[in-house]
Amino acid sequence: MKILVLNCGSSSVKFAVIDTKNKMAISSGLVENIGVNGHIKAKGPINPIDEFLDVPTHAEAILAIQQYLKKQDLINVIEAIGHRVVHGGKYVKSEPVTQEVIDYIRSITLFAPLHEPAHAIGMEEAKKYFPSLPQVAVFDTAFHQTMPPKAFLYGIPYEIYQDLKVRRYGFHGTSHRYVSGEAIRLLNKKPEDTYLITAHLGNGSSAAAISQGQCVDTTMGFTPLDGLVMGTRSGSIDPAILFFLNKTLGYDIDRLDKLVNKESGLLGLSGLSNDMRTITQAASEGHERAKIALEVFCYKLAREIGGLAMALPRIDALIFTGGIGENSVIVRELVLKNLSILGYDIDPEKNVNHGKKSSGIITKDGSAKAMIIATNEELLIAMDTEVMV
Ligand code: AMP
Repeated sequence: MKILVLNCGSSSVKFAVIDTKNKMAISSGLVENIGVNGHIKAKGPINPIDEFLDVPTHAEAILAIQQYLKKQDLINVIEAIGHRVVHGGKYVKSEPVTQEVIDYIRSITLFAPLHEPAHAIGMEEAKKYFPSLPQVAVFDTAFHQTMPPKAFLYGIPYEIYQDLKVRRYGFHGTSHRYVSGEAIRLLNKKPEDTYLITAHLGNGSSAAAISQGQCVDTTMGFTPLDGLVMGTRSGSIDPAILFFLNKTLGYDIDRLDKLVNKESGLLGLSGLSNDMRTITQAASEGHERAKIALEVFCYKLAREIGGLAMALPRIDALIFTGGIGENSVIVRELVLKNLSILGYDIDPEKNVNHGKKSSGIITKDGSAKAMIIATNEELLIAMDTEVMV
């Protein structure tokens, strides 16, 4: 089946046309800088495009994608549309898009203010431009809905959970689900006999404990700010720091929001960049704060993985994925060094070769297994869509 996957972000719409038979993308690209200085960049089976264009809202972005796909002779080829949705609230699995689903996504705007309205508009506009195609919503939070209450509840008054649904939701679920499925396949194991920890490390990062194919705990929480140190996000901090900054520096809610979401993480620690490539390069050249940023990133990740380990009876493999997890030799090395208590003994050659010759495994034979698996969220969204239509 040929599926159009749409990923409506706060100021961009990414797309891919996936052929689920050979699991390859026939066409892919994005419309970015919506509302500012619109730009479409895409490649298709016929010709690529790289142009500036007027896209005041997500509606024009979807139209631009439809027009591009028409020029690629794909309009009559696409059989369904799958949407990536950041926050699924109550949904525990992918859902066919109905007005009720769109209305629910809008109703939880406060959970992800930049994304939920964009998703709702994306679905409505896609209905307009592709009226005959069935659509499916695939939620980043859904995979984590199997967490037990002891993992998803915060230690705050229970009424806040009951009345306002404040709880740990977890994110990157599509990626954690995809790589855990791939790990089970590569390890040649049965899901019911497999226990994994997955670490999705990119601009945003999260880790999850996967027991018998189901998520039992994860590091991101009520929002994607919780958990690990990220590119510009602080990850978990003592909430009293916010009260302290309010009282000492007069920071209001908006200033604090900016501080922990946009000015912290690798960027805030290093004073240099949110990009792990820049951080590792500068650290290797002796930049003190880049070294600190790298150390904090890897130590906190190892510490969280240690915490997730206690949710499982054993760990069959630790999976690295995402831009950093798949590409950073030094991050994997430092994380596994910090985790030697769990029996990891990295094989430097396999690590440098990205486990290419060993089914992704980068640790020595006989030691606890760590693997690299490239994530493919678009493919999983396409596969879910195929199953649902
Ligand atoms: P993502 O959000 O998954 O696209 O990942 C983005 C992050 O991956 C950025 O911090 C990049 O610096 C990082 N990244 C990409 N390629 C490399 C690389 N070769 N080495 C280290 N980090 C990388």
